[in-house]
Amino acid sequence: MQCVTSTAFGPAELLHRLRARTTGTAVSPVTHIERVPARAGRTAPWPAWTDPAVRAALVAQGIAAPWEHQATAATLAWEGAHVVLATGTASGKSLAYQLPALNALATDPKATVLYLSPTKALAADQLRGLVRLGVDGVRPATYDGDTPREEREWIRQHSRFVLTNPDMLHHSLLPGHSRWGVFLRRLRYVVIDECHTYRGVFGSHVAHVLRRLRRAAARYGASPTFVLASATSGDPAGSASRLTGLPVTAVTDDASPRGAVTFALWEPPLLPVFDGPEDVAVEEAAPIRRSALRETADLLTDAVVAGTRTLAFVRSRRGAEVVASLARQSLNEAVPGLGDRVAAYRAGYLREDRRAIERALLSGELLGLASTNALELGVDLAGLDAVLICGYPGTRASLWQQAGRAGRAGGEALAVLVARDDPLDTYLVHHPEAVFGRPVEATVLDPANPYVLGPQLCCAASEAPLTDADLALFGDASVEIVQRLAAEGVLRRRPSGWYWTHRGRPEVDLRGTGGAPVAVVEAATGRLLGTVDPGSSHVMLHPGAVYLHQGVSYVVDDLDLEDAIALVHQEEPDWTTHARDVTNLSVVSVRSYVDAGPVGLFLGEVDVTNQVVSYQRRRIGSGEVIDTRPLDLPARELRTVAVWFTVSPRALTAAGVEPSEFPGALHAAEHAGIGLLPLIATCDRWDIGGLSTANHADTEAPTVFVYDGHPGGAGFAERAYGAAAEWLHATREAIASCVCDAGCPSCVQSPKCGNGNNPLSKEDAVKVLDIVLAALPPG
Ligand SMILES: [Zn+2]
Ligand SMILES: [Zn+2]
Repeated sequence: MQCVTSTAFGPAELLHRLRARTTGTAVSPVTHIERVPARAGRTAPWPAWTDPAVRAALVAQGIAAPWEHQATAATLAWEGAHVVLATGTASGKSLAYQLPALNALATDPKATVLYLSPTKALAADQLRGLVRLGVDGVRPATYDGDTPREEREWIRQHSRFVLTNPDMLHHSLLPGHSRWGVFLRRLRYVVIDECHTYRGVFGSHVAHVLRRLRRAAARYGASPTFVLASATSGDPAGSASRLTGLPVTAVTDDASPRGAVTFALWEPPLLPVFDGPEDVAVEEAAPIRRSALRETADLLTDAVVAGTRTLAFVRSRRGAEVVASLARQSLNEAVPGLGDRVAAYRAGYLREDRRAIERALLSGELLGLASTNALELGVDLAGLDAVLICGYPGTRASLWQQAGRAGRAGGEALAVLVARDDPLDTYLVHHPEAVFGRPVEATVLDPANPYVLGPQLCCAASEAPLTDADLALFGDASVEIVQRLAAEGVLRRRPSGWYWTHRGRPEVDLRGTGGAPVAVVEAATGRLLGTVDPGSSHVMLHPGAVYLHQGVSYVVDDLDLEDAIALVHQEEPDWTTHARDVTNLSVVSVRSYVDAGPVGLFLGEVDVTNQVVSYQRRRIGSGEVIDTRPLDLPARELRTVAVWFTVSPRALTAAGVEPSEFPGALHAAEHAGIGLLPLIATCDRWDIGGLSTANHADTEAPTVFVYDGHPGGAGFAERAYGAAAEWLHATREAIASCVCDAGCPSCVQSPKCGNGNNPLSKEDAVKVLDIVLAALPPG
């Protein structure tokens, strides 16, 4: 049999070699192997409407004919339908929008196209692709924060294919729309690449930026066709339609060829039990697994030794550096110099460096690469022999996107998901049906969030007065909101519409609703190290906090909340810091509820008050608590959306939960519930908060609340309410199937608990969830 691949081994043999390191351990790290079969490609003829020059340019690039899905999406768009193409990695989504867009530019010498991407790197890749095609008169150009002033004017006047991003659209293009009048008047297509990345609060903001774009284009007489490209996702038409506010047709039948992939789920082994000193904090005494980073570094090492081209995905920048450096170290120990064939790759590297790394990996000069997320990678970087995924990336959509970098037509490849020590990862490696047996998540966003809609209406009004017809564009909720803004004096009603009353433009950050991000500044040098979302600043940047930046450790001297600045100095103490907080929650209103006997399930608005009151210093390594220090920080208030359930005390005691155990049972269920929510909503556990109590003043019952961590909500709690039975069933399973005795990071402990993971009762949490699941109607 003939297979065209650079690897010396097929996936089965490679997996066997990766496992060799763990022979002798009682439990195999491989919990499941899934075979994803190869798929043959299906081409379609070039659509009859294709301009000969465009076709010639594409054929010259080696594209003999489009895949079926490309031709279908392109034709829909050419006929004026808004379309979203949701297919796998490397399925050629670019061609689906290039074809109608370039055709429009070739056949109408005045037409223009606007392309939006979530990252500069992707826009740069797309630009290179367009330049290579060399279709006459297109003059493609990127327009982003790096574009020099003197080039901007030229681009506005002459480019017919402008590549930019939603931030630039929001901050520059729309406020300065009069300078873009000619471009907007001729706008035929708006391309939104990687549209599944617009989720949560950011997605809700982008949805309104797009409505502002539609309004601006209409003002100059254009109504462009929207073409969206998405990773495989659940309900792509619904999500794209919520994002753009337009009816969108989805094309999802991927007709590109794919090599077979062997997909293994891998759980790092438990470390030998460590008998720590007496005063070791409770949460540190739980059994722990070998870290996913070390495990991934070892697997990368072995894969490189086996001569396979391997890409490791790691969630954090620092993690990617750590994996690359550990692998380099052990390779050099084995064969001096072999470590040079492994590199790290992440956002923040210069474009030239990234290109050099990509080329080296494609040529085989580099064999191993540890990278942050798939989006940051060059588009050509597919067709690798193996992909290691260190930690579940949060959604099945991103999991498949990362795994999709492995395998090429005619070859076979290996993908390995290495579980981290947390409830979701642990659940997934023991429930392969949750990974392989169901569709990927829908992208969750909520354009009706008043905390997003209000500021966006101000932006729109500052661009041009808002008319009644405009309000329909921004949604039903906007009528009430403009009236409120007018009452507050922010907008003024005149016969021709609502006017923005201030001189400057509204200051609106697309990535948050909680005010200005806090700048982290090194006091001695004045250097800006980074920014922290205001919602996390009290926890991460309180005085005395240890703050990590690119692998370097800093200690916070001062947190100035008024000016949103934290001053830090470089220091490498031998402790870590853990903030303690107190949260109060009150119910404002109930939107919807299910009355199920001893159990109630609710969705509604809540006010959350959170105050960081102290922090613990813990010794690195042993986890020993050195001391607890008080803090003097103000309380923070958040009005948001929550899902909550109540259980009657009688049902709890009948199930054998002692009243003294109510708090620990509910708290454990809350933690695991937050950990498992990303299974059904496109969020991660840092987007959501929780509170549990044995008797809540508003519900008068034992209650678990889970709330969106953003003012006004982001759609996650709503999704949890809608899929409560599925969500809580997975939560119950995650806890019940964990091998630990009394709770561990894989089940009920949470890395962000403000109470130091105390009290927690693993066993009773299962009983709580059993009562809830027995009472709730399925689905
Ligand atoms: Zn556990
Ligand atoms: Zn907690």
